[in-house]
Amino acid sequence: MFTIKGKTGDWEVVVGLETHIEVLSKSKLFSGASADYNPTVAPNTQVSMVDVAMPGMLPVLNEYCVEQAIKFGLGINAEIAHNSRFARKQYFYPDLPQGYQITQATGEPAVVNNGWIEIMSDDGKPKKILIERAHMEQDAAKNKHDMHPAKSFVDFNRTGVMLLEIVTALDTKNPENNSYITSPDEAERYLRQIREIARALGISKANMEEGSMRADVNVSVRPVGAKYFNERCEIKNMVSFKFIKTAIEYEAKRQIEILENGGQIDRCTMRFNQGDGTTTVQRSKEDALDYRYFPDPDLLPLIITDEQIERIRKTMPELPAATRTRYIEKFGLPEYDAARLTETVDISHWFDAAVGGKAERAKGVANWMISELFAHPENYDITNEKSGIVDGMRIITPSDLAELVDMVAASEINGKQAKDIFIKMLDGEDGTPRAIADKFGMKQITDTGAIEQIIDEVIANNPGQVEQYKSGKVGLLGFFVGNVMKASGGKANPAIVNELIKKKLG
Ligand code: MN
Repeated sequence: MFTIKGKTGDWEVVVGLETHIEVLSKSKLFSGASADYNPTVAPNTQVSMVDVAMPGMLPVLNEYCVEQAIKFGLGINAEIAHNSRFARKQYFYPDLPQGYQITQATGEPAVVNNGWIEIMSDDGKPKKILIERAHMEQDAAKNKHDMHPAKSFVDFNRTGVMLLEIVTALDTKNPENNSYITSPDEAERYLRQIREIARALGISKANMEEGSMRADVNVSVRPVGAKYFNERCEIKNMVSFKFIKTAIEYEAKRQIEILENGGQIDRCTMRFNQGDGTTTVQRSKEDALDYRYFPDPDLLPLIITDEQIERIRKTMPELPAATRTRYIEKFGLPEYDAARLTETVDISHWFDAAVGGKAERAKGVANWMISELFAHPENYDITNEKSGIVDGMRIITPSDLAELVDMVAASEINGKQAKDIFIKMLDGEDGTPRAIADKFGMKQITDTGAIEQIIDEVIANNPGQVEQYKSGKVGLLGFFVGNVMKASGGKANPAIVNELIKKKLG
């Protein structure tokens, strides 16, 4: 359990997250303009009259976007509302030409409600994190303040692109129901899960560096064991796991100090200072009332039918949690391996491609990936599109690794030779592992006659050690195996060598 030591005792932290993910769609949530706003696109070229709120222009809901929201809802075990609506959230800012954001109002059903995902808790046990809602809303434009010393510019390409805002729940009526985030690490694990679910579903890149995933972080503290929640503060628009963790810890300590000195926490929005990792008060938190939410009169209620939900349910791919279970149950992998191999959807796809449905190959592939391949990210293409030599780098493909594992399993080569082949590939040797083995004569010697001959030589050359072994120093077995392996040029099958030496030495 994550706790912070204060003057008066130990404190725990409660974290709520509002995560925005940018949803992939050809066009925007309420207009036909392209939703591709990436930095290479010229500013203000993907903007429709609707996006910039020209008088008389009406929003038209993009059905594809609605489907993505439903997909996400199903991916987090949530209820899909059959009837929800869009509201206007009023505020003034240059990046918001309408003067309001079209969103789904707090306190009303969103398109997605009451979901949960499972993360690994700090105690190493699975923990359910409740998700109150996920709602659809518009993204704002991008203000540019760094192009002119005295002027600011606005790029409206991003205006109206769909965001899905995912809000964790705090079961205030059941504070003992420990189904919320209680540490910086859990916050990171939760966000990574959300990211992987979104990616597995193909609904968002959910990339923090690119800004397609942003989190508002709510932090409160309470004495360890307390059965109530204290007031919280919010740190907005965080785009790095590292900063989020730093901010949570700093903000928690700030609040503890206030409470321990007899003060109270006022709800407010905090600014995170990247330079020194501190948080400072930015403004007192605006109330929902200040936004004057009201149903958008230009949009009909969002009606979703059971048929629609079922149709989408049928297209759902396997999600990371299910992949993990499959690796453990069908492939017999340890939990650690399963967790490493499902860190991203690309990794699990690569792994599955190498395993090719052959359970007996799984552990071998897992070992190579986790202990060797992950250490050489430049030597494989996680999207599995490249192969051969690319930019002077030998790209190791899933089928290369599968072949290597199979060759060892079939005793064509031993472990040492497999490692040598692997190193040759890292060094830029082209061709499949089998071709490399052929080229360098790396065939394992399994012929017992040939191995016996080598053993006889080694025994004849080491009479002293033979004497010691026979008088009970069985630890010398390794000495003989090593020498036989060496004499065979590393080609002998170690299992056969072991067996034969034991037999010969009695
Ligand atoms: Mn929002």
